[in-house]
Order: sequence, then C-alpha cells, then structure tokens
Amino acid sequence: MGTFALTGGATGIGAALKEQLVGAGHSVTVVDIKQADIVADLSTQEGRRAAVEGLRARAPEGLDGFVPLAGIGAHVTPASLITRVNYFGVIACVEGVRDLLERRQGSVVLISSNSGPGLGRHSEYLELLLAGDESGACELIDRVGSTVAYAGAKLGLARWMRRHAGEYVKAGVRMNAVAPGVTNTPMVEGAFEDPGTKEAMHAYVARMPMARVADPTEVANVIRFLLGPEASFVCGSLLFVDGGQDASERPDEP
Ligand code: NAD
Repeated sequence: MGTFALTGGATGIGAALKEQLVGAGHSVTVVDIKQADIVADLSTQEGRRAAVEGLRARAPEGLDGFVPLAGIGAHVTPASLITRVNYFGVIACVEGVRDLLERRQGSVVLISSNSGPGLGRHSEYLELLLAGDESGACELIDRVGSTVAYAGAKLGLARWMRRHAGEYVKAGVRMNAVAPGVTNTPMVEGAFEDPGTKEAMHAYVARMPMARVADPTEVANVIRFLLGPEASFVCGSLLFVDGGQDASERPDEP
C-alpha cells in the first residue's frame, strides 16, 4: 500500500481525502496547524521547515503522493497571511519533499480554485509570486486586499504547476492541480451564515449551473484519481471541479 502526505488534513477536503486514502489501506501523514501528525504553521519559515523535516523523518523511504491542501479563505486579514499560507507555504512544502516523491515516482496534486481565472489576474502580484519574492508579494497584496490575495495565489499555484510539471515528470513525479468551486467546508461555512455575506453567497450558488455547492468527498474523489495509477498520463493539467461554473463564466477558455 502507498505512503501519502497531506497538509491541511484536519478538516474539509483534506479530512475527506485522508479518510478515502486510509480506507483504501494507505498510510497518510497529515501536517496542519491543529489536529495533525505534524503540527506546523505553514505561514512561517520555521513552520515550513518543521513540516518538511517531520515528513522526511516519517517517510524516509519516500512518498507515493503529496497534496498540499492547507489554506485560508479570502475573508482573512491581513491579506499577506493568505499569500504566505496559500502560496509560499505550498511551494516550500512541495519543493521540500520533491526528492521523497522522486524516490517512489510519486504524484503531486496542487489545490487551486475556480476563483483564480476570474479574480486573480493581477499581473504584478502574479509576477512576484512566480519569482518567489515573498516579501515583495506580501507588501504589495496588503495594499490590494484579501480577495485578490486569495484568487491570485490560487492562479499563481496553477501557473507554477504548469511551469514545473515538465521538469518534475522528467524526474518521475507527475504534477497536476484541481480548481474546486464552492465546497461545503469550514472555510466557507461562515460566509453562508454571516448576515453580511449570506444573501450574496446563496444568490451566487443559485446562479451556478448545478445550483449547489460541492461535498468535500466530490473534490477528494478527483484528487485521489489524479494521485493514482489511472491518471498515469495526466500531467500538467488543471482540472476544474466546480459543477460547470468556470465553463459557464469563460466558455471560450482555453
Ligand atoms: P478547511 O478550512 O476545512 O481546510 C483548510 C485546512 O488548512 C484546515 O485543516 C486548517 O487548519 C489548515 N490550515 C490553515 N492555516 C494553516 C497554517 N497556517 N498552517 C497549517 N495548516 C493550516 O477548508 P477546505 O475548503 O477544505 O480547504 C482546503 C483547500 O481547498 C484550501 O487550499 C482551499 O483554499 C481550497 N479550496 C476550497 C474551496 C471551498 O469552497 N471550500 C474552494 C476552492 C479551493
């Protein structure tokens, strides 16, 4: 059976994926800021180091799959905290376990978002992300705001994945990403209850092609497919798991 690691596996999509992988007989190590095998705050350099060292200690023989799910929502302030967790925390972990994945010809699935293409196209922010300039990106985004911080970080992850997928797979590691739409997890529960956002959230869902949010298991199913042998020729793909929302908003892309 396989050896897998996830960040952000305490709740939501990560917890659903962990349950599926454990149910299939795999071993799964979870990194999270709470309720985890390795407790680490991925907004900080120290936390990222602890996460990578912890994973190396727990899986010295390598990893069959790695999914960095840890993330915070677009409502969080300061905006730069979103940049630190959702982009730089992700890249640091993926790069930090790359050799463990190479050892077992493993697979990586990044978690983008369907908000990326619509709200994340801020070219200066994207350039700083992709250049790996954390302090520059954080300084800029605190002036721009949390919505762009979130969507831009998610679009940045998709682009980082596309830029590096070829190089990773030459070393035997397949890399892909999913772009979920609104999914019923603790990250968005608040927005459906908050009197300030509740109406807008319900109206948004009513306009969606499937007129409903996803269950976390529906996103986990797709991640598990991308991790596994049935996806052996899928590499560098961004797969929308959003009930048709991106297609309805941008029918002519790509
Ligand atoms: P969630 O809040 O249930 O899960 C996020 C996890 O990340 C939690 O377990 C949390 O403790 C952990 N985390 C947060 N900050 C951390 C930090 N500093 N260090 C370590 N761990 C930290 O939400 P979710 O919806 O399951 O989110 C999983 C991923 O899916 C996220 O990357 C999110 O951006 C993405 N996503 C979610 C939705 C949605 O609608 N729920 C849509 C698109 C993308």
